[in-house]
Amino acid sequence: MTIRAFIGLGSNLGDSQQILTEAVAKLSTLGAIQVSRLYQSPPMGPQDQPNFLNAVVQLDTVLEPLVLLDYLQQFEQEAGRVRLRRWGERTLDLDLLLYGQEQIKNERLTVPHIGILERDFVVIPLLDLDAHLQLNGHSLKNLELVQQANLTVIADQSWANA
Ligand code: ATP
Ligand code: MG
Ligand code: MG
Repeated sequence: MTIRAFIGLGSNLGDSQQILTEAVAKLSTLGAIQVSRLYQSPPMGPQDQPNFLNAVVQLDTVLEPLVLLDYLQQFEQEAGRVRLRRWGERTLDLDLLLYGQEQIKNERLTVPHIGILERDFVVIPLLDLDAHLQLNGHSLKNLELVQQANLTVIADQSWANA
């Protein structure tokens, strides 16, 4: 069965736009994709690190959640991801935000992703892809952080075709 998943992408080390473009190309091998606009956001956690580039990819896939996570982690490794500190700088972060309507909780995976409702750099690109998206019965577009978002649009939805 095909499930619609949403994956959050972030990078603030290296050539971030190139890294995210390559990540989108890799995600497109896992199913049919749509891509949000590309955003710049201030760092979460430690403030002595560069701004992030962020986007969200919608992926229609037949892969099971843990298999999908394996791919996401493989793609992070291929982009040279090294864990330096919590919420620190990284070449590539790929988070499984949503997997259909499923609620998943095990050692490796919590879905919906724990941070969605507090993160403008996740909610705003999700709304690019589906303006009516709901989480726990709440419309994301009605969240307060949508009005107060601290994001800059870097490129329209064609950015990843480069
Ligand atoms: P955050 O998850 O708060 O955005 P982070 O992305 O920096 O933080 P990582 O270092 O990328 O965190 O991942 C830490 C662990 O989170 C991974 O080993 C993974 O098993 C686990 N994890 C749990 N739920 C998810 C999810 N929905 N998507 C990706 N990883 C997840
Ligand atoms: Mg993350
Ligand atoms: Mg992560």
